Amino acid sequence: MPQWSSSPPDRSGPRPLPIIRTPIAKPIVATILSDAMMGCPTHFWGGRTTPCEAPDCEACNAGSPTRWHGYLVIFSEQQRTSAILEIPDAAAEQLTLLAYSLPTLRGAKIKVTRSKATRNARVLIELQAPTIEQKNLPRAADLQTLLALIWKLPTTALVAATDAQKAITLRIDEEIMRKRNGKPLPSDVEHVQR
Ligand SMILES: [Zn+2]
Repeated sequence: MPQWSSSPPDRSGPRPLPIIRTPIAKPIVATILSDAMMGCPTHFWGGRTTPCEAPDCEACNAGSPTRWHGYLVIFSEQQRTSAILEIPDAAAEQLTLLAYSLPTLRGAKIKVTRSKATRNARVLIELQAPTIEQKNLPRAADLQTLLALIWKLPTTALVAATDAQKAITLRIDEEIMRKRNGKPLPSDVEHVQR
């Protein structure tokens, strides 16, 4: 049945953005609009990527493996559009290490390529520190809200996402400590806990 109404739906909230993955043929070159990456464990379930909703997760119960994915809102100057860039876990770790001295990712230029011209080839990241003034950049909607829209999560999921973010922060923090022989620079800790 059509859902009739006399006016269009309320568009005052954030609009959904498409999620894009690194193409095989050509790199993505864009400006990051998010202050920080945000991610969570996901499943490839029902033909698409969905967030893991453990402990009460249909995909987990069916034995589907989880994979962590990071997300960033980016703006492509070539296409004049915003999108959500999906970053696989290994590339996300690379991004975190490249960005450790930056106070924010917002305004940084990112170039994302595949190591080979195959669908599952490793994703490689290049990062350039911001050269544009923050105030001249388009505003970016909150990633948790955008992903909740795409994944059709109830708003209570936003609270859960905050907890998941803490877990990711700890995980990345541990990773940096491991890579630096257990001697993190104070600036690293400050950055990853931001
Ligand atoms: Zn799950």
